[in-house]
Amino acid sequence: MGNVLAFSEFSGANLKSSALSNIAFAREAAKAHGGEVIALLVGAGAQAASAHAAKFAPKVVVVEDGKLDHYLAETYAPIVARLAKEQGATVVSATATSVGKDLMPRVASLLDAGMASDIAKVEGKNQFRRPILAGNAYSNVEIATPIIIVTPRQSEFEAAAELPSAGTVTTAAAGDVNALGAKFEKLDAQKSDRPDLGDAKVVVSGGRGMKTGENFKVLEQLADLLGAAMGASRAATDAGMVPADWQVGQTGKIVAPNLYFAVAISGAIQHLAGMKGSKTIVAINKNKDEPIFQVADYGIVADWEKAVPELIAEIKKLKASR
Ligand SMILES: Cc1cc2nc3c(=O)[nH]c(=O)nc-3n(C[C@H](O)[C@H](O)[C@H](O)COP(=O)(O)OP(=O)(O)OC[C@H]3O[C@@H](n4cnc5c(N)ncnc54)[C@H](O)[C@@H]3O)c2cc1C
Repeated sequence: MGNVLAFSEFSGANLKSSALSNIAFAREAAKAHGGEVIALLVGAGAQAASAHAAKFAPKVVVVEDGKLDHYLAETYAPIVARLAKEQGATVVSATATSVGKDLMPRVASLLDAGMASDIAKVEGKNQFRRPILAGNAYSNVEIATPIIIVTPRQSEFEAAAELPSAGTVTTAAAGDVNALGAKFEKLDAQKSDRPDLGDAKVVVSGGRGMKTGENFKVLEQLADLLGAAMGASRAATDAGMVPADWQVGQTGKIVAPNLYFAVAISGAIQHLAGMKGSKTIVAINKNKDEPIFQVADYGIVADWEKAVPELIAEIKKLKASR
């Protein structure tokens, strides 16, 4: 019997929706391990987000300390590892976001624990299904260590629903915080009113065929009309057309929105690995033979220069008539 310690990312007073997917995973794992879900919130503002976390987890542990104001894997990992032991956890999980992917291997190392990353499904107590070969195949892995570390994919676990009654919130000390020489310098974040790429219900992505960063403005117009997040292929981000954190794919973000637009993107397997779980895919490409059309629900064979402004005009008309 063991608990599941779910490292939960938050923003302001709320858990991020990626954290709610982790809690959904944690509930399944807790059932298999015969324990309970414990949400762990670490860092500046953790206390403020704890009431929201308690709507989803029967127990919430908060660690807030001036020395943890800026996330560093070096300072967070020992805290997560220590609390895993103190809280009787046999599973420690975090969503496979950039923080989760950065943090959890260190936690695994500190606990001498086996790790299953990017998992898509719980197959058994310590058995998980995870994609391999850029999402073209699945493997089932089994972890044999007493404590196991798991990073579930947000796109594979529906956000957890609220509990009938709120859980309890306790605080824990940070203890000795040793950054091992690592130092927070600055955060270069893109400020945007658009939804987070990982959380968005609609995503508009552009590829190399957009040709310049300036040309992405027309996609941004489409995104703003639909309340969408912006995404891109790696060819577009590598060429510096758009910010690197817009990259969708195997080595970028994994998204599964209700609606995904792939504009001037060929559909290389590494891109598909990041978006083929989307509920509806619309592809706009001038070449009808591109692989993107094999996964698209709706395909428009056309130059984006013509198709996207027409789409924008039609959406505006529709909105005006309502
Ligand atoms: C290890 C590894 C990891 C990778 N990870 C990722 C990843 O995470 N994400 C990712 O995206 N890629 C990734 N890649 C790169 C991937 O293999 C492709 O090179 C990349 O996805 C291609 O991007 P693209 O579709 O924008 O460009 P291209 O393949 O060059 O396609 C451009 C498309 O634009 C179309 N087009 C051109 N002009 C127009 C027009 N006027 N109107 C309409 N259509 C037009 C063309 O027909 C073409 O289909 C990775 C590669 C490797 C090796």
